[in-house]
Amino acid sequence: MRAEIIGVGTELLLGEVVNTNAAFIARELAALGIACHNMQVVGDNPARLRAALDIALSRSDLVITTGGLGPTKDDLTKETIADALGVPLEFHQPSWDHVLNRLAARGRTPEPSHRREAMMPIGARVFPNPQGTANALAITTAKTVPQKEAASSQTVIMLPGPPREMAAVFQDEIAPCLSAQSEGTIVSHNLHFLGIGESQLEAQLPPGLLEASNPTTALYAGTGEVRIRLSARAATEQEAEDLIAPIANQLKDQFQDYLYSTDLDLQTALVQTLKEKQLTIATAESCTGGRIAAKITAVAGSSDVFGYGVVSYANSAKMEVLGVRPETLAQFGAVSEETAIEMAEGVKNLSGADIGIGVTGIAGPDGGSVTKPIGLVWVGIAGANGVAAKQLNLGRGLAEQRELIQELATTHALNLALRAARDL
Ligand code: ATP
Ligand code: MG
Repeated sequence: MRAEIIGVGTELLLGEVVNTNAAFIARELAALGIACHNMQVVGDNPARLRAALDIALSRSDLVITTGGLGPTKDDLTKETIADALGVPLEFHQPSWDHVLNRLAARGRTPEPSHRREAMMPIGARVFPNPQGTANALAITTAKTVPQKEAASSQTVIMLPGPPREMAAVFQDEIAPCLSAQSEGTIVSHNLHFLGIGESQLEAQLPPGLLEASNPTTALYAGTGEVRIRLSARAATEQEAEDLIAPIANQLKDQFQDYLYSTDLDLQTALVQTLKEKQLTIATAESCTGGRIAAKITAVAGSSDVFGYGVVSYANSAKMEVLGVRPETLAQFGAVSEETAIEMAEGVKNLSGADIGIGVTGIAGPDGGSVTKPIGLVWVGIAGANGVAAKQLNLGRGLAEQRELIQELATTHALNLALRAARDL
């Protein structure tokens, strides 16, 4: 089955709203094993929506639209698509009851415009919207344009625009329907790597792996990290797992120096490892401004392992709070191996944690020099086995790289902390 997503809304074309609905649906379709081959965005304009629909129906079996199901004048998706498919609308009592019930629950009565939400194309399948008044719907029609594939019908699913409503209808109603139509089950696993580039990793992959169809292998580059997703389709979950396991094991062996987790992001892997080993961690951050602490505390349950984070930009803060020695700062400077080490040791002592992280660097755009260029970052890690610091060179020569350097420094620091935790 070939799927296509159409985002409807002028606000999307103006860049005022990011098309997160399409990203959500695309991920859900991939998880269901349905290939999404195209995405389109059109404004609230019937003629252009119709043109987009024509294109979609000329190449896709399943078309999913989001937006334009509401009661206001610019909400024209349902009327336009029903008209294009030659299906008249009729009053749909259950949808009207749904509108009345949802409004009554908020102490409101319907406006005349709400009546439109109860007009449904004859024969359409209606999906209740658990979060809003406008129900979702699907129209299945005979294929308008002959295509190579065997399916003789095409389906257009129309979902509401507000992301919360769209996601709720999709998960409660649409995903179970689509999953019943696609055969077997899909299992995916993600291998997460740090310290190796996407193209470097790709070049070393076993020949033919990226072209194989079951399991499929996909590479994704993130900020400073690379992910390999392995997905297999089989009759049962166990059979799908069995298809993935040999390849996953081979890749884990081959790239073990870079692999930091399977299926867990960095901060979750760190918090989980600390919990398993009953360890605690504390952070002393200069150039990352608290991002490391923010990442760790974004993980539910992190309070078991994290109780202390210091943001120390000024030298006085490094000295007074963390106990960095004035001589160290005078002799080696704030961005140095020695300062990173004393920051890590300082916050470890201050907090009584098992592991202390100290990060100091130059995020730019000012402050770089020949000996200490923008992007130079030192990460100190103090643990039970002593203290060490690692030098990172994260400058990419870009004008707007401050945020990137901060992101990369955070990622590297979390990774070094994870390795330290695993070694303890
Ligand atoms: P409503 O009943 O709220 O009018 P609707 O189905 O008519 O819902 P729209 O009016 O098109 O949907 O969009 C409602 C809001 O949902 C938009 O203002 C926008 O903030 C958000 N939205 C719409 N489409 C998308 C999208 N593709 N991605 C993310 N957000 C979206
Ligand atoms: Mg609307």
